[in-house]
Amino acid sequence: MIIASNLTKRFGKLKALDDVSVNFMKGECIALMGPNGSGKTTLIKSILGMVVPDSGFITFNDKNILRDWQYRRHIGYMPQIGRYPENMTIGQVIAMIKDIRSPYNTAFDEELIESFGLNAMLKKRMRTLSGGTRQKVSASLAFLFNTDVLILDEPTAGLDPVASEILKEKIKAQIKKGRLVIITSHILSDLDELVTQVIYMQEGKLLFHKNINILRNETGQQKLARAIVSVMHNQRS
Ligand code: ADP
Ligand code: MG
Repeated sequence: MIIASNLTKRFGKLKALDDVSVNFMKGECIALMGPNGSGKTTLIKSILGMVVPDSGFITFNDKNILRDWQYRRHIGYMPQIGRYPENMTIGQVIAMIKDIRSPYNTAFDEELIESFGLNAMLKKRMRTLSGGTRQKVSASLAFLFNTDVLILDEPTAGLDPVASEILKEKIKAQIKKGRLVIITSHILSDLDELVTQVIYMQEGKLLFHKNINILRNETGQQKLARAIVSVMHNQRS
């Protein structure tokens, strides 16, 4: 569904992406992991067309995404830090994004808006929101358009445990529907139940990309965090 081929991106002297090749298929839930600054967000933004790689290319359903924005209608995106017009209310922001994304996405999925209780806060201005509520708005917007692909950058960071569970259930339901979900997180325990594939990045390089069951079998570790520590240890020795 999405193929990235030999992506390199430099910011000055720093290589944020260093010859990264990866593919993402329908029905998978991919955990994109790695320490801070390893290039996860840069990879995601490249897929979204918000960062243009210096070399390499990306295809979405077999079409090169360069200078073609149509494919974005198939993607729901939750940014790591959601930035909104601060004077607008939650309701206005939701209406605005709906308006921008129509006429392509008209079947709205408002389940998260309801289960997060945002309906009772539609008149609140964005600048008055707590970090957690802002995250709820971002998550609700990402899932609003019934897209085939969901890209979630640190989705559970800042969410309270109840909201985090609601979001995880929502993610699970999307995977069941055969959608592609890409999640970055450095909180590994958050992802244990959801993930089918694990990608680990370090210093802009893709260290490994493995099916979770293979990873568990190879390492003898059920917990994602332990399995990854085990792989890293073996690669060093
Ligand atoms: P991660 O999401 O894994 O924490 P990022 O992809 O955000 O990492 O960043 C990778 C590296 O690229 C970091 O060193 C970061 O400081 C740098 N970087 C990211 N975006 C920019 C930018 N627009 N300008 C300069 N450096 C950047
Ligand atoms: Mg990041």
